[in-house]
Amino acid sequence: MGTSTEFRSTTRHMLKESKEYASQTLMGGLSGFESPIGLDRRDRIRALRTGDIGFVHSWDINTSVDGPGTRMTVFMSGCPLRCLYCQNPDTWKMRDGKPVTLDAMVKKIERYKDLFTATKGGITFSGGESMMQAKFVSRVFHAAKEMGVHTCLDTSGFLNKDYTDEMIEDIDLCLLDVKSGDEETYRKVTGGTLAPTIEFGKRLAKAGKRIWVRFVLVPGLTSSEENVENVARICEQFKDSVDHIDVLPFHQLGRAKWHELRLPYPLEDQKGPDKEMRKRVKEQFESHGFVVY
Ligand code: SF4
Repeated sequence: MGTSTEFRSTTRHMLKESKEYASQTLMGGLSGFESPIGLDRRDRIRALRTGDIGFVHSWDINTSVDGPGTRMTVFMSGCPLRCLYCQNPDTWKMRDGKPVTLDAMVKKIERYKDLFTATKGGITFSGGESMMQAKFVSRVFHAAKEMGVHTCLDTSGFLNKDYTDEMIEDIDLCLLDVKSGDEETYRKVTGGTLAPTIEFGKRLAKAGKRIWVRFVLVPGLTSSEENVENVARICEQFKDSVDHIDVLPFHQLGRAKWHELRLPYPLEDQKGPDKEMRKRVKEQFESHGFVVY
């Protein structure tokens, strides 16, 4: 793939300006992880199922991007959705990631533990779709919680059936992508269905977990007043858990990756939202009582 050792300049969901994000990140790629040696294909599949290994695209250390404080963000490989605005299509296939053992991941967290404590940070699993490797992610979270490290899951919730209530116990915060407010647009934007996102939001709320909602604003695609109203109504279903909603303006920083992978990029000429549209959407969410960033 040729991308696994790159520094990451953006995360797919925050859609941050690249310079700003780059100045907030350290490390990157897959430095510091040894690949498990001596595992044949069958062993790997078994280890994947038990969560003894996970396929990782890359990781970085960042501040105030993927959760509170200084965080180690691990980008897992594999995603069942195909969002039109995906910033990281190089994370779609699990096999393009590198196998990392549970032990190596836990040791890495241990190494940064003091930094996490000092900055009130912790570990974030992102992707790809972090839930695609639910066993690995939840076992790392469990170990992190035993060390007193804050845990954050960045997900669309699409695979929430794979994430048991017991696994949810070890999540402190969820960055929940609500990609659209109605089925038709959701399908158009992601190729998937909306119901699992709503279900996961409700399950998190029931378990008393915190949620930061993320909504990518794409003019003409997710921007209609009706769609935004529907997203707000969805968030109302787990309102007590929602700390704020991040409205993320679409931009074109991901285009180069689609080109690099020779994938036809459906939003080639898409523009980002103007100031007026951003203001309107912010006010719409605020009128439902949400704090909006
Ligand atoms: S859910 Fe998957 S396809 Fe959608 S933006 Fe995230 S990584 Fe890309």
